[in-house]
Amino acid sequence: MYDAAVIGGGPAGLTAALYLARFRLSVFVADGADSRASLIPRTHNQPFWPEGISGTDLLERMRSHLAKYPVQFVRAEVAEMRQAEPGFELLVKGARVHTKAVIIATGVVNRRPRMSDFDHNEALRQGLLRYCPICDGYEITDRTIAVVGEGDRLYGEAKFLRSYTSEVTAFSETGSLNLSKEQRKALGEMGIEVLDAPVHRYRVRERALEVWLGSGMRKFDSVYAALGSKVRSSLAVAVGAKATDEGCLVVDEHQRTCVRGLYAAGDVVAGVDQIGHAIGQAAVAATALRNDLCERALLLR
Ligand SMILES: Cc1cc2nc3c(=O)[nH]c(=O)nc-3n(C[C@H](O)[C@H](O)[C@H](O)COP(=O)(O)OP(=O)(O)OC[C@H]3O[C@@H](n4cnc5c(N)ncnc54)[C@H](O)[C@@H]3O)c2cc1C
Repeated sequence: MYDAAVIGGGPAGLTAALYLARFRLSVFVADGADSRASLIPRTHNQPFWPEGISGTDLLERMRSHLAKYPVQFVRAEVAEMRQAEPGFELLVKGARVHTKAVIIATGVVNRRPRMSDFDHNEALRQGLLRYCPICDGYEITDRTIAVVGEGDRLYGEAKFLRSYTSEVTAFSETGSLNLSKEQRKALGEMGIEVLDAPVHRYRVRERALEVWLGSGMRKFDSVYAALGSKVRSSLAVAVGAKATDEGCLVVDEHQRTCVRGLYAAGDVVAGVDQIGHAIGQAAVAATALRNDLCERALLLR
């Protein structure tokens, strides 16, 4: 029986595990090893790395910090979680793991533009494809960019990015933008071009992403995907945790879900999807978990 299990080994999960280990709890971590942070070519938005750092380097540093403590770390997905007094039972790699409490830090998966994995990863590496205006909008200052998406998401992201550059184009992959008249008018007033033609293909070129839509081709320095994401909250929802319509877990000010002993941190919780935020939430979740176990007299040895 572990004191705590952390599901997910991205910035949120690794931070939570570090805090828990330093609280001298016995800790189990399971990680599916596809953190969104591993997709970051080089962030200049992670305080305070003045030269920037790649997502894989950042994760490696976090893992090597955690490795200094006696934490049981397994590279595998938790397939199932159920309540089992006084805590939870997890199914990992066919084995049952018992724990008094759980922190869910499973993150989200971005919906991708329709391009091959090879093109996708190459475009991402070169900064031709981007997912996070808050993270790297600064880097596209005065560049020629586009936003692909639909409806409110497309509208909001195009508007946000307009404060970095006057060259913004909005389009959708299907050609159907689902923008209201008012939204189209507002985009027009901001000088944002709106294209209604469907996308046939994307092509990665030297320092440009070609987008073939309708009967023509347009080149952009960067295209932002505003296609939404799939929230990985199903394990928590299955034991009764509340989620928003989009699937984000609902937590109190101490990162507690509505299920006793179950906490959540990082992108899986509604809020700004940022490493700094994930780290902060994880610190709060781990501290609450420790104090709640103490309160329930489950930490006395
Ligand atoms: C291209 C890109 C650029 C970005 N740039 C920045 C930036 O510059 N600055 C910034 O602050 N943020 C940036 N972000 C956002 C940042 O990556 C995320 O906010 C951050 O990774 C969230 O951390 P997390 O731990 O909540 O989730 P993740 O990092 O996504 O980690 C979740 C982990 O949980 C694991 N998992 C999921 N389900 C299970 C399961 N059932 N069992 C076990 N493990 C499971 C996954 O395998 C994964 O390893 C960027 C994101 C992208 C995609």
